[in-house]
Amino acid sequence: MLNIVLFGPPGAGKGTQSELLVKKYQLLHLSTGDILRGEVKAGTALGTTAKSLMDAGKLVPDELIIGMVENKVKDNQRAEGFIFDGFPRTVAQAEALDEMLSKYQDGINGMVSLEVPKDELVQRLLKRGETSGRADDQDPNIIEQRINEYNDKTAPVADYYRKQHKFFGIEGVGSIEEINEKISAAMDKMASV
Ligand code: AMP
Repeated sequence: MLNIVLFGPPGAGKGTQSELLVKKYQLLHLSTGDILRGEVKAGTALGTTAKSLMDAGKLVPDELIIGMVENKVKDNQRAEGFIFDGFPRTVAQAEALDEMLSKYQDGINGMVSLEVPKDELVQRLLKRGETSGRADDQDPNIIEQRINEYNDKTAPVADYYRKQHKFFGIEGVGSIEEINEKISAAMDKMASV
């Protein structure tokens, strides 16, 4: 299995790159943001709890996210591997992920972190907000809040993987293809270890 964490702030291009990578490597794309938006749309209890936090640009509690991911991993044991997108977003989530994968004698091969300057992120998110229908992409204050949550709670997750020598930092500015090639090179390196 090849399990990767695609990491980076909101607007870094994780979703776009995941779409290309799943085709190339036959991996399963597991985006916690997409799953949560599905729950909101379906009007489930989880969706109802998550909605107000998502609309405010705040993180959803770890225990809800971890349970949700655990179900997906359990239901997809025949996958060639996973691309985790938007997860883990806290160190507690990263620890829980290691623990759940170890039950299947599996683990994370590496983290690819897309690095993009803040001004560029804000511009990209506002542009995406014109067509995504996502309220959290349309309001500059919510975007600011999401980037602050990332810096406070999520950025430390990079150190968790750095300590395990699994961190690959990649400049996330340039053409989609160029960035994709750099990510693929990092993934090939991970797969060969
Ligand atoms: P995203 O689509 O990854 O930008 O996520 C949209 C929103 O969903 C975030 O702003 C959070 O409110 C919530 N969310 C997604 N993934 C997570 C996660 N791993 N932990 C906590 N909250 C999350």
